[in-house]
Amino acid sequence: MRWEAEVPLAPLTRLRVGGLAPRLGRPDSPASLRGLLADLAGGSFLVLGGGANTLVSDAGVSEAVLVLEGEFDRLNVAETELEAGAATQIPALVNEARRGARSGYTFLEAVPGTIGGALRMNAGSTDTGIWDRALWVDAMTPAGETVRLTADEAKPRYRGVEVSEEWVFMGGAFSAPPGDKEAIREAHLERRRLKVATQVYDLPSCGSTWKNPGPPFGSAWEVVDRVGMRGVRRGDAVVTEKHANFIANMGEARAEDILGLMIETRRRSLDELGVDLEPEIRLWGFTRDELRAVGAPA
Ligand SMILES: Cc1cc2nc3c(=O)[nH]c(=O)nc-3n(C[C@H](O)[C@H](O)[C@H](O)COP(=O)(O)OP(=O)(O)OC[C@H]3O[C@@H](n4cnc5c(N)ncnc54)[C@H](O)[C@@H]3O)c2cc1C
Repeated sequence: MRWEAEVPLAPLTRLRVGGLAPRLGRPDSPASLRGLLADLAGGSFLVLGGGANTLVSDAGVSEAVLVLEGEFDRLNVAETELEAGAATQIPALVNEARRGARSGYTFLEAVPGTIGGALRMNAGSTDTGIWDRALWVDAMTPAGETVRLTADEAKPRYRGVEVSEEWVFMGGAFSAPPGDKEAIREAHLERRRLKVATQVYDLPSCGSTWKNPGPPFGSAWEVVDRVGMRGVRRGDAVVTEKHANFIANMGEARAEDILGLMIETRRRSLDELGVDLEPEIRLWGFTRDELRAVGAPA
């Protein structure tokens, strides 16, 4: 049995909301991924990593969902690089860099999720993303072909990459030259302290809801704050007081509550400040109208 039917997605996402996937496959090697893609015969599918950046609709999704595991969860340490599978947790890579005195990974400190999700999102800080460290990345096309990509080919940008949404990242190698152990440890601790002090780690969320809009507003949280949405609650979903760009699930939040807060925030931002916010989080299973209402690609 290669597919599980009617699988609840909420437990697989960090926000803990959302409905079912009609079927879900867990490829544990490139060969099994190729087999599952062949089963799909060109039909549409979605890849879920750690679900730390994904909001699933209460209605669930119509596509098949793939969750990588097994051989895709691996971390190999070489002299000047770290090789990681797509199912490897980002913190595993970051901890290895810190413990092994490898420089260049403070920007990923305290970022939850998997390497696959990080590659799709070009996860990182405002000015550095994971693709800045990528030496090569392997992806599988829906036809089952393996393609090795460099950053130049993937064309990373702020929270995204120019690689077909249908390509499944399988893993890659990331430059990690040795550095000064104490300085690296301090830099990681400092970054972690800053993130934990200013962002929300004690409640389920997807991190930053909106991309930073650019001048005159440097950060999306400033916009959300200016239009009075900080602290606004709908059902069990709340725009957190601590960080206005985070929406948290206080218990039994529904995706429609979160979507409602997003629609209201975007409407106010447009009307009051002329700022057209764009979601950073990925939205799955929503209607075209709902996607348009939050400024997501429909
Ligand atoms: C408290 C908190 C702090 C955060 N801080 C940051 C931060 O500082 N910087 C930052 O960039 N993000 C941050 N995030 C967001 C999140 O951690 C990142 O976007 C992370 O990369 C998501 O990884 P994931 O595996 O959970 O992705 P998912 O949510 O599972 O997926 C995200 C997207 O990637 C795609 N995807 C997943 N795996 C693959 C794959 N193998 N191949 C192809 N596509 C794939 C999915 O289809 C989806 O479109 C934060 C989130 C939280 C909750």
